[in-house]
Amino acid sequence: MKGRKFIVMMVAGVVAGFLVGAYATEFARATAFIGKLFLNALKMVVLPLIVVSVANAILNMESLKRFTEVGWKTLLYYISTTSLAVVTGIALVSVLQPGAGETFTAGTAVSQQVTFSLESLVVGLIPSNIFKAMVDFDVLPVLFGTILFSLAVIAVEWEREILVRRLLFELDAVLMKLTGWIIAFAPLGVFSLIAHKTASAGGAKAVSAVLASLGKYVLTVIAGLAIHGFLTLPLIYFLFVRRNPYSYMAKVKDALITAFATASSSATLPVTLQNVIGAGVKRPTAEFILPLGATVNMDGTALYEAVAAIFLAQVYSIHLSLAQVGVVFITATLAAIGAAGIPEAGLVTMVLVLKSVGVPVEGIGFILAIDWFLDRCRTAVNVLGDTVGAAVVS
Ligand code: ASP
Repeated sequence: MKGRKFIVMMVAGVVAGFLVGAYATEFARATAFIGKLFLNALKMVVLPLIVVSVANAILNMESLKRFTEVGWKTLLYYISTTSLAVVTGIALVSVLQPGAGETFTAGTAVSQQVTFSLESLVVGLIPSNIFKAMVDFDVLPVLFGTILFSLAVIAVEWEREILVRRLLFELDAVLMKLTGWIIAFAPLGVFSLIAHKTASAGGAKAVSAVLASLGKYVLTVIAGLAIHGFLTLPLIYFLFVRRNPYSYMAKVKDALITAFATASSSATLPVTLQNVIGAGVKRPTAEFILPLGATVNMDGTALYEAVAAIFLAQVYSIHLSLAQVGVVFITATLAAIGAAGIPEAGLVTMVLVLKSVGVPVEGIGFILAIDWFLDRCRTAVNVLGDTVGAAVVS
C-alpha cells in the first residue's frame, strides 16, 4: 500500500496505541504479540541487511578515493549535527532550569548497575567472533567487520574476477523485497508496540502522575528535540540539498514513526533504507551511511544526555562551571556515539556524562519512569538525523 492511506494508518496506529495503552491496558497486553512479531521481523532482516547493504555500497563506490571522501563527509556531518543538538539541549536546559528547586523522594531513586567506557567501545569495534556479535545484536563490530571484508573483496578483485559482487547485489534486492512486506504490517505493529509500552508504564493514571512530577523536564527535552528536528536539521537539508526539507521528511515518515514505536534506530534501519532510497538518495551512499548512522549518529540521544545530566545537576543543586558545561558537551557527544541503536541505550551511556561532572549516577533513577517515552522521541530524531545525513552527503 502506498501514499496517503498508509500514512493515515500509521498515524492512526500511534494515536490508537496511546489511547488503548492508557485506557484499555488488558487489551493492550493481550495484543502485545503483534508488536513483538513486527519487531522480530524487523530485527530478523537488520543484520543480514547491514552486511549486504554496506558491502554492496562499498563495492559500488567508483573508487577507494570516493569511499574515503564519503567517509570524511559523513564523519563531518555526524560531528557537526550532533554538536548542534547538544548545544541546543544545553542552552534550553540552562535557560528553562527544569531541575531547579525540584526534589524527588529517595524511593524513586533506583541505583543503576551500569558500566561504560570508551576503551571497551574502541576495542569492541573488531569482533573476535562475528557470529557472536550478530547473536548479541552488536551492530558496530558487525559493521566494522563488513567494511574490512568489503575492502578485502576489492583487493582480491584487483587480481581476478570473483562472484561475491553479483551475489551481494542479488541478496540486496531480496532483502529489500522482504523489508517491503514487513513495512506493510507497520501500522498494526506500531499500534501494538505503543499500546503495550503505555500499558506497561501503568496506563493513563500512572503516566499522568509521572508527567506531573517530571513535566518540566519532559517539556525541555521535547522542546529541544523539536527545535533540532523541525528547525536545525531541515535548515541543514535546505542549505545543502536546496529542496523542501519538509517534503523530504514526509517521504521518510514511515521510518520516523517506526523509530518512535520501536525506540530502536537499528531495528528501524530496514525501513529507513527503503524510505531514503525511495526518496531519491543515491543507493550506495544510503547503503553505506544509514547503517553507520543508526549506531553512531544520534543527535536526539546527544541532546537528551546533555539535558538530563544538567537537569540532574540542578536537582542535586550542583553548580556546573562553564568548563564543566564544556565537559558535558564533549561527553554527551561521545556517549551518544557510544550508545547502541537499541531501546534506552542512552540511559546507560549517560553514566559517562554524569561521572565526568560529579553528578550522582543514582540520579538516573529519577528520570527512569519516563524514559520509555523520551527514548521514542529521541530515537525518531536520531533516525531523522540519519536520513538528512544521507541526503546531504549524497
Ligand atoms: N533508543 C535510541 C536509538 O536506538 C538510543 C537511545 O537510547 O538514546 O536510537
